[in-house]
This record gives sequence, structure tokens and C-alpha cells, in this order.
Amino acid sequence: TKAVLPRESIARWTLIRLGLLLLFVGTGFYLVSAILLGQRFDVFESEQYRQDVARVVAVIEQDRLSLLSSVNDYAKWNDSYAYMKTRDPEYLENNLSAEAIVNLRVDWVVFFTLSNQVWSSLELRDDTLQPVLKENLDQLGALVFSSQVSRQSYEGTYILWQQGQALMVAVSEVTDNDHKQPGNGHMVFVRHLNDTYLGGIRKLTGVSFELLPVEIGIDYPAIRVNDMDGTWQARKKLDNLAAEIAVSGPGRLADERRVTELLLAGNALFLVVLALLGIHWILNRRVLRRLAEFSSLADRRRNEADNQVRWPVAGHDELDNLATSLNELMDDVEDHHTNLSYLADHDVLTDLGNRRQLMARLEAMQHPSRRQSDLSCSLLLVDLDSFKLVNDGLGHAAGDWVLQEVASRIRTLIREEDTLVRLGGDEFALLLCKITPENALHFAERMLIALSLPASYEDRQLTISASVGIAQTQPDLAPAELLRNADLAMYEAKRLGKKRAVMFDNALLDVAARRLRLEQALHSALEDGALDVWFQPIVDCRDNTVTGMEALLRWSLDGGYIPPDEFISIAETNGLIVQFGKFVLSHACAALKTLQPEYPELSCNINLSVRQFADIGLQQDIHASLQKYGLSPNLLHLELTESLVAEHEIEILPMMLALVHSGLKFHLDDFGTGYSSLERLRKLPIDTLKIDRSFVTPLREGDDVMVRSMIRLGQELGMSIIAEGVETEEELNRLRTLGCTQMQGYLFARPMPFADLSDWLARWKQSKIK
Ligand code: C2E
Ligand code: CA
Ligand code: CA
Repeated sequence: TKAVLPRESIARWTLIRLGLLLLFVGTGFYLVSAILLGQRFDVFESEQYRQDVARVVAVIEQDRLSLLSSVNDYAKWNDSYAYMKTRDPEYLENNLSAEAIVNLRVDWVVFFTLSNQVWSSLELRDDTLQPVLKENLDQLGALVFSSQVSRQSYEGTYILWQQGQALMVAVSEVTDNDHKQPGNGHMVFVRHLNDTYLGGIRKLTGVSFELLPVEIGIDYPAIRVNDMDGTWQARKKLDNLAAEIAVSGPGRLADERRVTELLLAGNALFLVVLALLGIHWILNRRVLRRLAEFSSLADRRRNEADNQVRWPVAGHDELDNLATSLNELMDDVEDHHTNLSYLADHDVLTDLGNRRQLMARLEAMQHPSRRQSDLSCSLLLVDLDSFKLVNDGLGHAAGDWVLQEVASRIRTLIREEDTLVRLGGDEFALLLCKITPENALHFAERMLIALSLPASYEDRQLTISASVGIAQTQPDLAPAELLRNADLAMYEAKRLGKKRAVMFDNALLDVAARRLRLEQALHSALEDGALDVWFQPIVDCRDNTVTGMEALLRWSLDGGYIPPDEFISIAETNGLIVQFGKFVLSHACAALKTLQPEYPELSCNINLSVRQFADIGLQQDIHASLQKYGLSPNLLHLELTESLVAEHEIEILPMMLALVHSGLKFHLDDFGTGYSSLERLRKLPIDTLKIDRSFVTPLREGDDVMVRSMIRLGQELGMSIIAEGVETEEELNRLRTLGCTQMQGYLFARPMPFADLSDWLARWKQSKIK
């Protein structure tokens, strides 16, 4: 199962974000409400203070008016009028006794004459009535009658400040009862607004206030209230008096404020939490729970590979839409799966089945219940010959076309119940059921004929041929073994010269087993000293000189020699050929070195296989060997088979050019067997063509068509020609008349160990002189 991906929860994410947002909103709400409520509290508080001040002012006003009316009562009276003339002490004793003054709540009573001289004065001091102290009276007179009191008459009330203490002063003109007589003096009542007085008012009004001096000129009508950091201050000036009332103190509603703020904060918090829960609940119901369900279904699909998973669709909202589209996607995926499983056992190019399908069929046949009926089935392995040449020479489109053509040609020959698959590349397999081995072979031959019919691709005539291996099913033969048998038969068909069908034979298993044994033995061949290099001379028959020789590898195993054709192909597949090549190279160079004093012109051919070309050290090895033995590079000729060159032209060309550049020569080996085009021959840096033995042998029967045209081609291209496998005088003569002079073959000498070579060369020289 796949690892569970780390996952972030949308629910948690939303909850945290929403929580923060709501908290922010809640705080805002709290702050705004607190401020607004605070303002209401402020209004209330200031109103309270305003009322306090107003109450105090009203009481003092009351006092002022009563003081004024008291003084008026006394001044507008015949007795007082008379007193201002007589200064009769009886008047004072009768009307202004100590008791009367206390009742009037007057501290001083002063009579002034019209010229503002003190007529008499009274003050209750030490419980006895005495005249007011002189200095107090002077100040009072100055204050009452000073120019600042700008009235027509001095009647009225004032507040005077004496040594930081306020005096409430009421002045009235003295006249008779009926106000008929012109005034003959002024009567003044003074009340001390001292702590006792103020204390009384404080007690009365329940307000603790201060009485403060104010200049008379300054006037402000309303009550001023300001809140200075929690301490309230309210002031009101007494009308036309030089004093103001000031009340200050803490907020009266501090507790209420605190409770309100706490309530507000609590409410806000409560609402935030409630909203959060509510939103989460709704989100959860509508979205989150469903998302979680989706997610767990997705996990199931991922971890249990349950492709049947479909997401629930409940209504028509966005999630439903998403689910529907996911479900459609899953349907598509399933369709694709079906397609893929078709593709998995089919070949796209030919629309045939593939190896998987074949193996499935073979496996099914293994099943006990089916064994009986399908007992005699034949597996045919069809491999196209030289398909690579078509692909490389004409392009992949041509290759594809050939494969399709082959598929359709075979398809027309088979029955419904037969299975035709393409195994890959240019290999097809055909499973024919209920057929005898003889009929399978007949079928294969018919098929080969059908395949060899001319095919035209884009105005080109192509010849298709194939090699077929046939193997028969047997009880207890595993599919892989059956396939191997067919494969061995097919390789045998190739080995026998292609374009044919070969029936599997147990002897082929021996071939395979032998190959396996050889392969194992080959690994130690070099160390065991079982390898040797033999040489076969190449003769120029114009003057019968030996111009060169070919180095050929020999391997002796268990007292016999293994044919190079057999072990070389093994060494090529397992890569040993690279070491072997070095071995041949150094032997060839050593041989040349030894022979050089006597045969300075003698050259040596060595055979190279494609694996050696892939080895980047090749060029260096060759030069190192040449240097070691002090040989000129033109004495070493490198043989490449034509089929190798045809198949690997592009890869090997750079190396070929580099080697030619440094003085080596290339011979094209087995010329005529590899379908080289004229174009290719022109392009490659080839010095000599070696005509293959299979074209030389027919000369015996007088068939010289191929050899003739090959020689002509070589001459046209300016290449030298060596004929290989010359065995008879007949062949020699024919070749000579056709213009080929260099030859190699049993007629002159078989390959021989180096030890025999110098003897042979000496004898050859001798016979030539004779
Ligand atoms: P090849 O390069 O075509 O070598 C010539 C083959 O023809 C040799 O076979 C030689 O013995 C044989 N031959 C020469 N004259 C005659 C004749 O008159 N009649 C007949 N019937 N055969 C003749 P050999 O030595 O068995 O080698 C077979 C092939 O093995 C060679 O064919 C070559 O392709 C490969 N081979 C041999 N040595 C080496 C090697 O050192 N390296 C590589 N890469 N391939 C090698
Ligand atoms: Ca050769
Ligand atoms: Ca050859």
C-alpha cells in the first residue's frame, strides 16, 4: 500500500481562521459598545455633577435672597429711619439683640451714613454684642462703596473676599415704612460664608463643594463639567457674585461601569464562541463531513486499489458536482484500464496478440482439463531474414509495412482457432491446433511460399523471406520449454541458410547443451593456453608471390579443434571476443615481425567483430602492438564482414575513418552475402573486397555470373579483390581470366600454425623458382 499522505484538515484550518476572525470582530464590538456606553455613563455622571452644583447654587441663592429680604425688612422701617438720626441705643437693644442676630444668621450688622461713614456696627463676639473690628469695617466699606459697585443705589447683595474667606453682603437703603422719605443711610448685613456655614449647606444638599473666588467681570452662564482622568469637576458661577461653586470627585458609577464592561466582554466572548460553534456545526454538516467522507474514499481507492470507489452524490451543490465529475473520471479510468488490458496482450502495429497472449494460451493448454483435446498442437516461430537491412536501408516506415504485410499474409492462411502473435521485432509465433507434425511442416512451407511472393512498397520490389522453427506440444512440456524448442529449431533454420522451416529435434537440444558447455569452457581458454593463431597465405597468382596471410583463431578442446564459426559467435555474445581479438592482434604482429627480415612486404589480415569496434581501446591497442613490434601500419589489414558493416555502418564509420587515417586498410569480408548497395560501398573507406567462398565454388560448374559482376564492381570502385575458398585449378583459372589475381584457399594452403608457416613459405619460394 502507498504511504498515507500527510494531510491538513480543512476543518481545523477553518476553525482557527474563523476563531481569529470572530475574536477580532468580537473585540471590535466590545470596544465600540464599551466606548458608547462609557459616553452614556459620562453624560449621566456630568448630569449628576451639574445637578449637585445647581442644588448648591440654589440653596446659596435662597440664602442670599433671604439675607436681602431680612436687611430690607430692617432698613425700610420707621424705627431704623429714626435710628439713623438719633443713634438711640434702645433701638439696637430692642431690635438687634444677640438672639435676633443669631436668628437672622447674620454675623455683622453695620449702619453707614449717606456719606459712607460707619454709623454703628454690631458683632457677636465672645457671646456679647460689640462693635465690629475697625480694620474689618474699613475693608467692608471700601468694598461695598467702591467704584466697582456701579449701581445707582448700593442696594443688593455681594460676595466679598476677606483673607481667603467669603462674606455674603446685603445692602439696603434706610427709609421709612412707606418708602416715602429719602434714604438717610445704609444698613448692611454680613454673613460669613465660613466652614460652619458651608458645612451646613454641604450637609443640607449632600454635596461636598468648594466656594471659590472669581473675578466679577468674568461670567459664564452654564455649568461647566469636565472629567479629568476619572476625577469629575463641575463649576458654576454665582449670578453677579464674585464666587463660584466647584464640585469635584470620583465617578459615581465606577462599579456600574466595571460590571457593565465585564458583562459586555463576557457577552462578546460568549457570542464569539457561540458563533464559532454554530458556523462549525453548519460547515460540518454541509461541507466538512462530506469532505472527510470524500477523503476517506480517496484513501480507500489509493490504498486498497479499489477502483469501484464512487463518491456519494446527495444533491446539486458544488460538492455534488465535484463528486459527479470524479465519478465520471473513474468511469473513464476503468475504460482506459479495459483498453490497457487489451493493449497489454496485443501488438499495436499488426493488431495481433503479443507474447503475453501466447503465454496465456500456452498456460491455459497446460490446464489438466484441456490437455486431452489439444494434445497435438504445433508452435511455429517465424523470424524474418535480414529484416534489419530493410529497416536500416528503407526506413522504419518500410519496416512497419513489411511487418503488417507479413501479418496479413499469414493471417489469410490460418483458421479461426489458431493463434498468431507477434513476439516482438521481426519475430512471429503461430500456434496451430489439432495438427500432425507433418501437416505443420507442410503448412510452414506453404507459408514461406506465400511470404516470398513479391511485395511492392512505394514502387519498390521487396523480397520477404523468413526462417521457421517448429516445435510440437507434449504433455508435461512447459510453455517456456516449448518456446525454447521452437527457438532452437528456428536458429537451426537460420544456420542452415535461412528461408526454410526446421522441425525441432532432440538433437538440437544437444546442440544447445554443447553450446552451453563450450561457453563455459571458453572462459578459461585463454588462460589454459588452449587458443592459438593459425595463418593462411594469400597468393598473387600473376607471379605466385605470397602477398599476405589471414590470421585465424584456433581453439583446441579435449584433443580436438572447435570450429571458429561456432566459438566465435559464443565469444561475440559474451564479450570474450575483445580479449581474443587482442590475442590475435599481438600474435599477428609478432608473426610479421619474425618474418619481416625475409619477407618485408608480407602483410597480415585479422578479423574484427562488431564487439571489438564498440571497445574504445581498439585503436590504441592496434597502435600499441604496431609500435611494440616496429611495424608499419599498412602491413596490417582489418577484415570486417559485409553483414556486420551493413548492420552497424553508422556506429562503426567514425572508428573506421580514424583507423584508415592512421594508415591501416580495411577488407570487406564475405563479400556478396550482405546485400551491400553500391552507394554504401562508395561511402565506406574499404580497400579490398574478399569474394565469399559460396560464389567461388559455383565456378566449378561454370557459373561465373556473380563473381564476374563482383569483380567488375570492385574494379569500378578502384578496390582490390581477393577470392576466398579457392580449392581447384578450375576455379583458379576462371578467376584469373575474370581479372582476379589475389587468392586464398586450400588449393594453395590450409590455415597452419605459425611454426609451419616459415617452412611453407620457403617451400613455396622454392617451387616458384622451379
Ligand atoms: P572467414 O573470415 O571467412 O575465414 C575464412 C575461412 O574460410 C576460414 O575458416 C578458412 O579456414 C576457410 N577457408 C579458407 N580457404 C578455404 C577453402 O579453400 N575451402 C574451405 N572449405 N574453407 C576455406 P575458419 O578458420 O574455420 O574460420 C571461420 C570463420 O571464423 C572466419 O571466416 C571468421 O569469420 C571467423 N574467425 C576466425 N578467426 C577469427 C578471429 O580471429 N576473429 C574473428 N572475429 N573471427 C574469426
Ligand atoms: Ca576473414
Ligand atoms: Ca571470409
